[in-house]
Amino acid sequence: MTSFKELTDFLKNVEKTSSKKTKVILLAEFLKRLDKNEIAIAVRLLSGKIFPEYSNLSLGVGWATIQKVLKTINVCRLFPYQMEMSIKDVYTLLEKIAKAKGEGSRTKKEMYLRSLILSLSREEIDFLLRIIFGEVRIGASEGILLEAVAEASNCTIEEIRRAYMFLSDLGDVAEAAITRGRIGINQVSLKLFRPVKPMLADMAYSVSEALKEHGGITALEYKYDGIRVQIHSKSGKIKVFSRRLSNITDNVPDIVRAIEDKIKGHDIVVDGEAIGTKGDKPVPFQDIVRRVQRKNDLFSILRELPLRLYLFDILFLDGKLLVDEPYRKRWEILERIVGEDFLAKRLVVSSRNEGEKFFQEAINEGHEGVVAKKLDSVYEPGCRGKKWLKIKEFDTIDCVIVAAEWGHGRRTGWLSDYYLAVLNEETGEFEVVGKTFKGLTDREFEEMTKRLLELRISEREYVVKVKPQIVVEVAYSEIQKSPKYRSGLALRFARITRIRWDKNPYEITTLNELWDRYRKQFERKAGINT
Ligand code: ATP
Repeated sequence: MTSFKELTDFLKNVEKTSSKKTKVILLAEFLKRLDKNEIAIAVRLLSGKIFPEYSNLSLGVGWATIQKVLKTINVCRLFPYQMEMSIKDVYTLLEKIAKAKGEGSRTKKEMYLRSLILSLSREEIDFLLRIIFGEVRIGASEGILLEAVAEASNCTIEEIRRAYMFLSDLGDVAEAAITRGRIGINQVSLKLFRPVKPMLADMAYSVSEALKEHGGITALEYKYDGIRVQIHSKSGKIKVFSRRLSNITDNVPDIVRAIEDKIKGHDIVVDGEAIGTKGDKPVPFQDIVRRVQRKNDLFSILRELPLRLYLFDILFLDGKLLVDEPYRKRWEILERIVGEDFLAKRLVVSSRNEGEKFFQEAINEGHEGVVAKKLDSVYEPGCRGKKWLKIKEFDTIDCVIVAAEWGHGRRTGWLSDYYLAVLNEETGEFEVVGKTFKGLTDREFEEMTKRLLELRISEREYVVKVKPQIVVEVAYSEIQKSPKYRSGLALRFARITRIRWDKNPYEITTLNELWDRYRKQFERKAGINT
């Protein structure tokens, strides 16, 4: 049994080194020392995510609650803590906090939090809070943890990454690799009703860029602006999962009803986008999100909207895993099973003119643009790459809000100026690339202020530092080099275009991606590279 103290001591030790290689070795040694049933939870704590995404669990306690509990404890802690908590004990209490729901749940959550904190030493509490607020440095970088799991299990990093595609949880991957070894890890595959992370797209600026990247021919599909859905069906039962792997079946009865006849006879996993519609026209996602009061309301709002489903991929059919089949073949299978009505609009093109015309049609019909797909590409769950290239009308990136300033004048009383950060994948840290107060309505400022205060970590003068959790889509006019920000880059004329409740902070734009875009903008604007 491993104590929580051992975990904190270990973290302290790892944080002393800046060498990635040493971190990997230390982590691997630590993982090997754990009992079998501790591996998954230790890795989740180290990754700062605590619960698997597919579990639908989140702690649901903000900084204010923690402060409140800490205050009462400081007053009543007469004796030093007595017993040593194991990591399992700590995790069980965290689960209890997360599972407290409904009436009286606030009190229950506080009670469990109090008993957890009372059982820990000062130093352990500090680490626990850093875990809760996603501030454990080594943890933020998935790459380091995956490498450590490979090292600890003698599996190759490719085997580990592949298993991660199907399991979507670092803890589960670590447990499978370390307890079952190479044979076990190679048996990991897609399971019905266990969602996998969706494949993602990189950015391209034009149809010709996509054509060049894809070898002169590509399939363009409309890019629908809605909610990514992954639909699993087996023995007549259907479940629908969101991009963040939450089960949203009950929120999208329209979709289930619409598709059930087509897929019910199969064991099947299909991937697509559900959009809101009004008459024949798509309702932009921004308009849906504008109505959302709380994160969990995003999916309930779907229940009130007429939805339309567009499918664009198939991952599994009647016992056969299809992810390694080329896109071209997967499309044929999908078309055969679901028929034209549910398919994303698509055109295979080999000329720029043809492609641009199709792109314009998508825009004219109220969609976001197109996604270009390489005909021979495999489906890589959770990966963002050039096999899929999205082409949109405007440049946007996804940032996380790491701090906010109190407004003045008309915005007095609101946290209205937001520090926007991207993810530095190498260090696992979020790095600021700009600030903006543009894009939100008064009601949204008010709501955002409430949410940010729940995430408050500290406050100095008029700047409130927050737990990096709220993801926003940001439009900008240009990316510039910046001596002011450590990231080295700054967004010019940044403006929030929407809040991305469907994304977690580790899915945002990375600093490397931003540097890529920085360089690319000079390819488009010839001659002004500096
Ligand atoms: P964005 O903010 O541009 O929607 P994202 O970060 O949510 O991007 P990306 O993978 O970068 O996700 O862009 C592709 C997204 O576009 C998918 O996640 C999906 O939700 C949506 N989409 C709409 N139509 C398609 C399509 N035909 N093929 C693939 N994805 C599509």
